[in-house]
Amino acid sequence: MQGPKDATEATCRAHAHLREHLPKASDEDFELSKRGFIATIPDARILNDAGHAVWEMTSFAFEAEATPPDTVNPSLWRQAKLNMIHGLFKVTERIYQVRNFDLSNITFIEGDKGYIVIDPLISSETARASLDLMRKHRGDKPVTAVIYTHSHVDHYGGVKGVLSDEEIARGDVRILAPEGFLEEAVSENVLAGNAMGRRATYMYGALLPRGPKGHVDAGLGKTVSLGQVSLVPPNEIISETGTKLVVDGVEIIFQMTPDTEAPAEMNFYFPQMKALCMAENCSCHMHNIYTPRGAQVRDAKSWSYYINEAIDLFGADTEVLFASHHWPRWGSDVAVEFLKKQRDMYKYVHDQTLRFANHGLTPTEIAEEITLPPSLAREWYTRGYYGTLNHNAKAVYQRYLGWFDGNPANLHKLPPVEAGKRYVELAGGADNLLKHARAAFDKGEYRWVAEIVNHLVFADPSNADARHLQADALEQMGYQAESGPWRGFYLTAAMELRNPRPPSATPRTGAAGQLRALPAEQLLDALSVRLNGPKAGERRMALNLEFTDTKERYLLSLENAVLHHVKNKTEAKPDASIAITRAGFVDLLLGEKTLDALVAAKSAKVEGNGGALTELVGLLDQFDFWFEIVMP
Ligand SMILES: [Zn+2]
Repeated sequence: MQGPKDATEATCRAHAHLREHLPKASDEDFELSKRGFIATIPDARILNDAGHAVWEMTSFAFEAEATPPDTVNPSLWRQAKLNMIHGLFKVTERIYQVRNFDLSNITFIEGDKGYIVIDPLISSETARASLDLMRKHRGDKPVTAVIYTHSHVDHYGGVKGVLSDEEIARGDVRILAPEGFLEEAVSENVLAGNAMGRRATYMYGALLPRGPKGHVDAGLGKTVSLGQVSLVPPNEIISETGTKLVVDGVEIIFQMTPDTEAPAEMNFYFPQMKALCMAENCSCHMHNIYTPRGAQVRDAKSWSYYINEAIDLFGADTEVLFASHHWPRWGSDVAVEFLKKQRDMYKYVHDQTLRFANHGLTPTEIAEEITLPPSLAREWYTRGYYGTLNHNAKAVYQRYLGWFDGNPANLHKLPPVEAGKRYVELAGGADNLLKHARAAFDKGEYRWVAEIVNHLVFADPSNADARHLQADALEQMGYQAESGPWRGFYLTAAMELRNPRPPSATPRTGAAGQLRALPAEQLLDALSVRLNGPKAGERRMALNLEFTDTKERYLLSLENAVLHHVKNKTEAKPDASIAITRAGFVDLLLGEKTLDALVAAKSAKVEGNGGALTELVGLLDQFDFWFEIVMP
């Protein structure tokens, strides 16, 4: 296995240049991160039942060095060190947080009878360890309520670590969430799930070894935990700004913030403690308007609008501000200044991108041109540790104008392999192209190297010299990147270019567990995107489908190489009528059981031509999780 290389002189020069343009050196964030520290567990080491670590900081011990290594962007290094500070912290009277036991924060509010838990992390194990730490230092009390701030998995996945199965079954623990929470939580990652999942391995650097030449930080937090993920639906939905509730003796005023950092999200204020929770709408960096793993772009304008509304609603009465990632800020003036600058960071990207676009600039040009104004650039908490100004500007363009930049030379481009072959020919062959690229590499022109060698890699992925030079260029770009996700993308690409994986023997169906949890509508939607259109051709089919356990009926029809499903409709003369359990249907889709076996086990009953359903299943693609990204 080919390992990573050292930083080049050009990369060291880039770091030195960056240092001159960073905000003023300050320990303030470190002091804020440590303020109110109570206790932690050694190295934040959290094991699952099998004894494997689902979270630990030992592998990040190299980040204790004060001086950043040449292979890490110095600004990202600072954020990485901040994200190392873990344990239980007192935010203010009755409010406590466990930070850096996972990607996100878990917050505990002391109620009259027990604890209100805000955002129970990704995994049961990390949430449980956090609750144990809280109980150890603040008393062994029950969890009286759970609040999910929004629909992303790092804010609900560990809920079974703070609630027992009996408590969940009894249903007497209040579980609050913003309107649309459940729909968004299950739907965001379904239809494009395989592509997103694979791209996420790049974004979070999950395949990289941890170290100065590998994964150092995700920007938003260290990394993602690797424990049990679950979803317990809320039993109380918040849908209006201004809603006031008393939860276990604690007053809470809610603010709805739809279409901001998540499609379903809310902020809230605790008048008794004069404390404001900003969910994930504010964090100590520039967040993603577009997340590079792939997702629909977010609305920067609405994001900014709701931060402004939070200032109007709660700013004057806020003595401490905390959020679901990173560290709090104390003092009304400090909190309001932070809110204003976060508000304006998103509004600035939005407005200036459209200003440039209206002057006729294209996304790549805008991204190169845009810089933050001095008052925003002065703050560490506007740095692009997660989102970047560069890709966020492109996201704003995409939201309003789409992928096409208006230049017809880009309207119908040749696909990568074909373009690659012609560029190589134009360059006078592979050797000439590599010679030119090596000279550019020696000058530190890594972006240019990546662009031209990419053509050769796509023209001929068996050219090891090309793959290695491409890896070298992307690696230096990774070392220079301030954004955790950018670093993850570059370094993972370098690793895969140097060590191509053998083709996977069996495709990994990553979303299998998810399929079982989906509502029928979404399950059938997910089916439609697996239909192989060319294979379906002119085949027509109509199936009456009944899920025997949920009593749902659908007409499933195939026509024009498209699969439709209509609820509560039946065809008078179907190819077949099938009554089947939901679980059986999923088994069939995943190829884990045949229809005959399901019929024999009495999980399915067929009238008419059962072969039709089997034929339909045969028209569905299985997605390979490990599709190539940096090679054809
Ligand atoms: Zn989050």
